[in-house]
Amino acid sequence: DVCVGPLAPVSGADLRVPLVQGGDCTYVNFDYAASAPALARVTDRIGALLPTYSSVHRGAGYASRVSTECYEEARDTVARFVGARDDQVVVFTRNTTDSLNLLAGCVPGSTVVLDIEHHANLLPWKNSRVVRAADTLAETVRLLVAELCSRPTALLAVTGASNVTGEVLPIAALADVAHRCGARILVDGAQLAPHRRIDLEAWGVDYLAFSGHKLYAPFGSGVLVGKRDWLDAAEPYLAGGGAVRNVTVESTEWAPAPARHEAGTPNVLGAAALAAACDALADLDFGRVAEHEAALTSRLLSGLADVGGVEFLRLWSDAPDAVGIVTFTIDGFEPGEIAAYLSAEHGIGVRDGRFCAHPLLTRLGRPDGAVRISVGLGSSSADVDRLVDAVRTLVAGRRDWGYAKVGGQWNP
Ligand code: PMP
Repeated sequence: DVCVGPLAPVSGADLRVPLVQGGDCTYVNFDYAASAPALARVTDRIGALLPTYSSVHRGAGYASRVSTECYEEARDTVARFVGARDDQVVVFTRNTTDSLNLLAGCVPGSTVVLDIEHHANLLPWKNSRVVRAADTLAETVRLLVAELCSRPTALLAVTGASNVTGEVLPIAALADVAHRCGARILVDGAQLAPHRRIDLEAWGVDYLAFSGHKLYAPFGSGVLVGKRDWLDAAEPYLAGGGAVRNVTVESTEWAPAPARHEAGTPNVLGAAALAAACDALADLDFGRVAEHEAALTSRLLSGLADVGGVEFLRLWSDAPDAVGIVTFTIDGFEPGEIAAYLSAEHGIGVRDGRFCAHPLLTRLGRPDGAVRISVGLGSSSADVDRLVDAVRTLVAGRRDWGYAKVGGQWNP
């Protein structure tokens, strides 16, 4: 019975929230997979930078030079953090969705995706072919290979870890098969980057997208890291200042990536926050992060399994690894009812709904949604015990808690 405390200080750890029965309690955040709270190192970095905050790439003044240096250093930090190769560039974006939409405008051909993806890695692709995942990961990989090799494919776009089940995909193996079929591979790293060390060079990954706000840096930034040639050949993502070399009234000479796809004044605080989070996570060591989350997840699974009627959502019996996500339903309860009860009566924040992955929820037999608990660096075993006790009370009571579904709609 190992006592697992937080692995790193995060903002909001001592937040007190009101309870419906009166009084208040400390907030328990079990929604890291949606947005992770800022690491103390991230807020410190932002605080230090604020006095010199200024426009990037646009001024000769001291503050502007410091901000420009900081922005470009952040780019180098992200490249190191993900093991980028020399032919890959880091483009700053707003979030993963933005990064994937940007890349979708650069792909010279069709894209293959699985039906388990978050909508952000399903909807942007043009000319896409959707492969239905099988009941085992091994069979799913076989189906992907068959589809990739059945006709010319430019890109395989796949998630690093599922935002619904937490299951981790065998990225290096998928990169290998994509390349053998003449395609490139994009990894949606939104759920993987906060939990596992990413090594683009070792894994042979061509493109990677992730969000700062899921990586303990909630200041409006994301990244697309990837091979320069497609990015340089495509139309700029946005037209405007900063994306050009030279403009006349008659013609425009666009700059190469990353500037080509970063028109407008860059978000220097967001980029610096993301880089600070990368440094903090690298210092923490991903082995410890994985151990911390695995201990909490197994405590959660065994605690909830003891409560009658709980069923966990899982895709594959042979998935070798999963990040700290536990998604479940309870027989006789609406997911939204469970989430509302946990918040109102116990001050516990979880996510319910269909997690922006409607096809996946349907194939898992939960078209009406489920409840997702996701842990992170600030989570503790005491938090897990509070949640398990609360769920046990809910189920044992079997009364009408009054958290009825309103208007037939819960979260998306
Ligand atoms: N992909 C996955 C796997 C996600 O979990 C999410 C966020 N829930 C996204 C993409 C989209 O991220 P964002 O909303 O930051 O663009």
